[in-house]
Amino acid sequence: MARTVLVTGGNRGIGQQVARVLAGAGWDVLVAARDRQKADAAAARLRKDPGGRAKGVELDVTSEASITTAAQKLRDGAIRIDALVNNAGVYRDQSVARTIDTNFFGPLRVTVTLLPLLRDGATITNVTSGLGALSNLDAAHRKLLADPALTRDALVAHVQRFVEGGGKGWGTDAYGVSKAALDTLTRILARELPHLRINATDPGWVRTDMGGRGAPRSVEQGAASVLFGVETKETGGVFRDGARIAP
Ligand code: NAP
Repeated sequence: MARTVLVTGGNRGIGQQVARVLAGAGWDVLVAARDRQKADAAAARLRKDPGGRAKGVELDVTSEASITTAAQKLRDGAIRIDALVNNAGVYRDQSVARTIDTNFFGPLRVTVTLLPLLRDGATITNVTSGLGALSNLDAAHRKLLADPALTRDALVAHVQRFVEGGGKGWGTDAYGVSKAALDTLTRILARELPHLRINATDPGWVRTDMGGRGAPRSVEQGAASVLFGVETKETGGVFRDGARIAP
């Protein structure tokens, strides 16, 4: 039986490439995009590849209602998920609130809402960035995020306070904080959900709309780094090109 993966932000960039590789490898691919037409168009592109099985799913990671509707439709279709790739993200051209809402709360919302649809042993891959390395934070927040006793609720409260404070005081910008907090969330969720394998993967600096033309890595290289998370037996780590870079 084919395995099923859902990729958020699967309509372009790294997410689309991840979806394309998995479709080519025989997976049933749910191409999630915040715009229904973009999701369907991306799925149609993948279906043109040999063997490509892909379906569009409308899913805005900043909207609880959108994620709940998507989950309900998947449930109605008796779809179970073997791999979730939380790829959707925004960069530095957005407000502090929007950046944190998309890059940190987005993966959290999607994970929590889709959890009942995930099979035992499923993987969750949170797409992170080297800019989220703890070394970019000031000492106090580095210590806070590295604390093994930190709970999910406490992490959420700290990140909310960062937004309320206008995105200041952590030693780096909202994008860096969003990804540092995502790495920490990954570690906490892996501990909370031992029946799943939950990791963060860093694609490196990649030539996409986000990374720009001057980036050193191709979209294929970036996607390959992300794809490690889909098949790995590891849990709770941050990986680049298959090598653990944190914690
Ligand atoms: P991209 O080309 O800008 O694509 C971003 C994707 O995220 C698009 O599909 C976009 O959808 C989607 N998205 C944004 N907000 C969304 C929302 N609220 N709901 C659903 N989808 C949303 O970026 P990329 O370079 O492929 O980046 C993918 C991931 O890799 C991101 O998490 C990014 O932070 C991470 N990353 C990228 C680089 C790099 O150098 N490119 C480096 C490190 C990490 P629309 O088409 O609707 O806008």
